[in-house]
Amino acid sequence: MITHNFKKKFGQNFLQDKNIIKKIAAQANTGKDDLIIEIGPGAGALTEELVEKSKVLAYEIDLELKDQLEEKFKDKNVAFIFDDFLNRNIKEDLKNFQYDKLYFVANLPYYITTPIINKIISEKIDVKQMIIMVQKEVGERFSATYGSKDYSSITIFLNYYYDIKKEFLVNRNSFYPRPNVDSVILSLTKKEKKYDVKNEEVFFKLIKDSFVQKRKTLRNNLKSYDFTKVEEILLKNNLPFDVRAENIPIEVFVEISNSL
Ligand code: SAM
Repeated sequence: MITHNFKKKFGQNFLQDKNIIKKIAAQANTGKDDLIIEIGPGAGALTEELVEKSKVLAYEIDLELKDQLEEKFKDKNVAFIFDDFLNRNIKEDLKNFQYDKLYFVANLPYYITTPIINKIISEKIDVKQMIIMVQKEVGERFSATYGSKDYSSITIFLNYYYDIKKEFLVNRNSFYPRPNVDSVILSLTKKEKKYDVKNEEVFFKLIKDSFVQKRKTLRNNLKSYDFTKVEEILLKNNLPFDVRAENIPIEVFVEISNSL
């Protein structure tokens, strides 16, 4: 058993339920030659399962865990980097490894869920699949479909790159210390075929602008745009021109952006 002073500032809620830990590891369909990046191994509960399947590279910010983790995994195929994941050059770190496919599996520190995913996307790290635990409400937003109140710009941004699925819920009682929120396991699988976007910069700006004030209509949010072009696409897709962004499928946003 690892002894530890839990640090709230690092989002430290360690999973205690062995069955759930095994279930998370089982979601990652990895082989011996694959590499799994884990962010925040904590006491190594999930790491223990992952290392039975594949090679593991784990980033942990809390130096207090260093000696215990290194001791616990001394004969195992795990490399630790004790540093802030957000400050690392991941591509440089990966040069030290030979592997077939790359995966991410993590019970994420919730205070930096979005920055972590943004980093993986913006640095173009070629990840086949992520299995991540996030706060339940965040999971609803990431996996929402249009027409739902949770559908937002981050939904579209992530769904542009990944097929996102809610796998299962994890109750707050499964952690120590107990957090104030429940959690959900998500799988994000790299899309086989990406959307046919002509100009990503235009597309992402359109998405950001469309959702700038969620309760407003698209027309109101896109005041600086040539709305006749937008209207044409809405009409073609049987959408009213007082539609809100939350009711517009990604495919229609793609069409609008390609027409601008
Ligand atoms: N994997 C463990 C488990 O499931 O029990 C711990 C998960 S805990 C929610 C999050 C972990 O991420 C903690 O160990 C914390 O110290 C670590 N962490 C927080 N911020 C980090 C960062 N910026 N870079 C790397 N690790 C971080």
